[in-house]
Amino acid sequence: MRVLIIGGSLGGLFAANILHRIGCEVRVCERAPGTLAGRGAGIATHPELFEALRRSGVTSAFEVGVHVPGRITVGCDGAVIGRHDFPQILTAWGRLQNLLTEALPAGCYEGAKELKSIDQDAREVRAGFADGTQYSAELLIGADGWRSTTRAVLAPYLMPRYAGYAAWRALVDEAQLSGHTRETIFDYLAFCLNPGEQALAYPVAGTNDSLTIGERRLNFVWYRPAEEDTALRRLLTDEQGHYHADGIPPHLVSRAVIAEMRADATRLLAPQFIEVTRLAPQPFLQPIMEFSADRMAFGRVALLGDAAFVARPHVGMGVTKAGGDAMALADALIAHPQDLSAALASYEAARLRVGKLIVEHARFLGAPLSPTPPNEVERALARTNGTPEFVMRTAAIAPTLPW
Ligand SMILES: Cc1cc2nc3c(=O)[nH]c(=O)nc-3n(C[C@H](O)[C@H](O)[C@H](O)COP(=O)(O)OP(=O)(O)OC[C@H]3O[C@@H](n4cnc5c(N)ncnc54)[C@H](O)[C@@H]3O)c2cc1C
Repeated sequence: MRVLIIGGSLGGLFAANILHRIGCEVRVCERAPGTLAGRGAGIATHPELFEALRRSGVTSAFEVGVHVPGRITVGCDGAVIGRHDFPQILTAWGRLQNLLTEALPAGCYEGAKELKSIDQDAREVRAGFADGTQYSAELLIGADGWRSTTRAVLAPYLMPRYAGYAAWRALVDEAQLSGHTRETIFDYLAFCLNPGEQALAYPVAGTNDSLTIGERRLNFVWYRPAEEDTALRRLLTDEQGHYHADGIPPHLVSRAVIAEMRADATRLLAPQFIEVTRLAPQPFLQPIMEFSADRMAFGRVALLGDAAFVARPHVGMGVTKAGGDAMALADALIAHPQDLSAALASYEAARLRVGKLIVEHARFLGAPLSPTPPNEVERALARTNGTPEFVMRTAAIAPTLPW
């Protein structure tokens, strides 16, 4: 089967590698020119992610990331106020991207290839690109993220929703950190909690992909409320006054909002976290979005990864979910070798409920960060789900499937 994959980020790379290994002829079309290396930050791992890497042909799973023994919470004075043992491997987006790119069949990836249109009939699906070219295939996979063009063409009524808060993110070299920060928080998934806010940090591979002690980086995330029409708009406006509604590129975040973030950190966070915000060369911003598709299959087209479901990041499953989608799609194609619509119906039935469950679970975990809980249930969740014990026992842990 000829398969055209739109989007060359982690979801697209999982799909290409896993489908290639079951005998499909794959072609990946990515809008960004050149390499995507250097994008992204920290990623939590789950057992399903290692299964997806194994089926993608990546065998060095042990070397995927940094092993931590568990979680800690520090108070505003920097002292440890809570612990929870939970061994986990934490990795970096760039490391996964390198491993999956190395596993790709030669010549199947094209950059600077932006999908513009899709049309299909009983025999094939045709994709039109911004450069005027057109490719046809038997199956098209929309792995083009939360602002998916594939989804916009086929289901324009589906729109992501802003959760009411944004994440400041940063990466700092291990070697730059003070001895105190390295000794007290570096080896853990560490939290610092304030009412309505959450900061966390964990170790990931270094810029050169190194997992050697001294060459790694600390990944920092700070969730903060930002009202959509005022505070968020200001955060996403660059120094030339241009408002980046779809997300501001890291190098355009204004010096004034970075300075304010650092000043707020000094008032609100533990000394180790303040140090990270000061050292971070390029803190960047991500508005937190959520989204659930009501369909994943449209004739000869399947949605995969963030194009179908975006969960708030507290569950740490965006990449694992994309890998799980790719495995489920491969299994459905194997189970229905002569019948694509049966295969896609089976894929959709399996993954719609998983995606919905992950989005709902992530909303439950993020309830304390919602600035205006819409009802009494959410207000109650906001009170209980923000304690150190709850956060340490639930963050970045996959929900148990009820079936
Ligand atoms: C603060 C934060 C923390 C997170 N932490 C975690 C975590 O700990 N663990 C985790 O698993 N996930 C985490 N995530 C989520 C994770 O980043 C994504 O879920 C994951 O990258 C899956 O993405 P994807 O490949 O489906 O889409 P994306 O990564 O969005 O990629 C889509 C690709 O499609 C391309 N594209 C878009 N439009 C077109 C077009 N028209 N034509 C061609 N190409 C196109 C884009 O350029 C892009 O490369 C976090 C997210 C946030 C915001």
